[in-house]
Amino acid sequence: MELPHRIVMGAMHLNLETRDDDGTALAAFYAERAGAALIVTGGVAVNAAGVGGPGYAVIGDPRSRTALAAAVRAVHDRRGRIALQLFHAGRYAKPEDGGVHPVAPSPVHSSFNRCTPREMTHADIAATIDDFVEGARTARALGFDAVEVMGSEGYLINQFTAPLTNQRDDAWGGDAERRRRFPLEVLCRIRAAVGRDFPVLFRISGNDLVTGGTPAAEVTALAVALAGAGADALSVGVGWHESPVPTVQSEVPVGTWAASGKALKRALLAAGHHDVAVITANRFTSIAQADEALSGGELDFVAMARPFLADPEIVAKSAAGRPDQVTLCIACNEACIDRSFGAEPVSCLVNPRAGHEVEFPSSRRGGRSGRYVVIGAGIAGLEAARTVAGLGHQVEVYEAAAQPGGQFRLAAQVPGKADFAETIGHHVQELLDAGMPVHLGRRIGVEDIPELRSFDGVVLATGVVPARLSLPGVELPHVRDYAEAFADPEALDGRVVIIGGGGIAVDLAHTLTADPKAKATPEEFLARYVEGDSIPRHGAESSARREVTLLRRGRRIGEGIGPSTRWVVMQHLRSASVRMLTGITYREITPAGVVVTDAEGTDRSIAADHVVLAVGQLPVQDLVAPLSEAGIPVVTAGGAVGSDGLNAVRATAEGLRAAHRV
Ligand code: SF4
Repeated sequence: MELPHRIVMGAMHLNLETRDDDGTALAAFYAERAGAALIVTGGVAVNAAGVGGPGYAVIGDPRSRTALAAAVRAVHDRRGRIALQLFHAGRYAKPEDGGVHPVAPSPVHSSFNRCTPREMTHADIAATIDDFVEGARTARALGFDAVEVMGSEGYLINQFTAPLTNQRDDAWGGDAERRRRFPLEVLCRIRAAVGRDFPVLFRISGNDLVTGGTPAAEVTALAVALAGAGADALSVGVGWHESPVPTVQSEVPVGTWAASGKALKRALLAAGHHDVAVITANRFTSIAQADEALSGGELDFVAMARPFLADPEIVAKSAAGRPDQVTLCIACNEACIDRSFGAEPVSCLVNPRAGHEVEFPSSRRGGRSGRYVVIGAGIAGLEAARTVAGLGHQVEVYEAAAQPGGQFRLAAQVPGKADFAETIGHHVQELLDAGMPVHLGRRIGVEDIPELRSFDGVVLATGVVPARLSLPGVELPHVRDYAEAFADPEALDGRVVIIGGGGIAVDLAHTLTADPKAKATPEEFLARYVEGDSIPRHGAESSARREVTLLRRGRRIGEGIGPSTRWVVMQHLRSASVRMLTGITYREITPAGVVVTDAEGTDRSIAADHVVLAVGQLPVQDLVAPLSEAGIPVVTAGGAVGSDGLNAVRATAEGLRAAHRV
């Protein structure tokens, strides 16, 4: 198989795979991304026991095959290439209620799905290998250009290679050679079934990043053995769901994991396997970064997944010399990885069309071009405005603040979230390039309504303001809200008590206690977490410049933060000795601190030099009624809809939806 360039779209589970639409949404999603050299589908389970969740396709299911065939046709129609990923979750399986109980090499409990799997019998193992083979045959029959065998990220095959999860002492475990027997059998049998001319990729775990994971020497030996057994390419993954090391979060330096791929490539070359391609993956955001990783000639391809969610045209725009036009993935995981663990369709915070290509066409189908106003240049308003413009309308944006971005701009100050500012800058520039005015520092009030009558409609995206707390002492001079705290964090020294324990409060605590060098080089980052084959350390180190206390009425700090990132930021807070008190009742703020009743019912005073209120948000909706009463068509997005459950993902999704409703 000859590919036009070196950027592969890595596998992502989408939760579109089992939608009852004959694969229409799945096909539309992949078709728009056919500019990748090769698309690798999200994992398709080789049998019912191997599903990663209720939304997973199973290769033996006729409805799954219909959907997958539709995806193949759509990608081929766009002259793209697509490989099917053959997947078995093993002990990470999350079958539907009443489904098959998870199976694994050994019955080792998993904290990921809170389940102890059933140990596979010899018959189970033989049948599962048969299922992988049948899956490969089916993929070829459906027209796929290749298959990728999922042997990484802690799923079934990886569970066989790791001593932690393979505690057998039989033909399938007990020493290094027997631990790698299962992946080799799978590969050899697939190769024999599909013939020499059908490309077979193998996703190998470059580093499991769990204590008891596959030892480095065994990873190398497996890579060489797979090459000898007929693998055409090794795609190198990293980390397990139970790993204490961040792998794809924004804190991880770009290109951190390329070293694993390079090491395996060297091993393959040393063993004489010159024609086996090595694909590196994880933590590449731009094509320029991928180019750099490839520049030394030690790697053959870079697999990028989330960047294709953020911008399906990433390759075309970069190849055309306009990388500045690419909407970059900000590694937030909020609409993609976090959703892939549940049932909601995967999408993207910075490109909410992702996964909704059929529902929201990229161009206008009929109708006349109109003139619209978007009030508010937060992330919801900007998404609405760029979509309105993309649909061929004229749009003007008005923002009361001197800078665009709203709440999203605050987030850009949080360690690891600097790229949030890139999104704002990109969206504004996109509008300006299209000739759409963006007026900053211009508040629209009821007095402006007569002027708005000349437009065809208004998108109201006026956002939120910080909620206040009704508490004695809240007006004292050392009390401020979270927006004021983010505006000048240097003003907060000494002891800071944050009232509130949600996502914004956690972000603020992180900002106030972060080690300025937290985003280190890949080598420094790894050195914090990894010591040879063991993972003994929790790597976040902090200078703890301030003494920070988080107070929460509820029981859980960071409620609402996505599962793929909450544990990372909590690690930071713990290592920075941030005090986290839950079950608190607030009594009063005094010049000396905050008086509370703690979870045990004891009254106590928590000393503070500064008190920050992070107790939620209030929607700014004061123009909704006047606009409607004036007969001006108005749709709302983001905070203007309401602040309950509001986050950036919901805000941009509403911006997109509003733009299609004007
Ligand atoms: Fe990237 Fe966030 Fe979009 Fe996921 S949701 S693709 S992490 S920007």
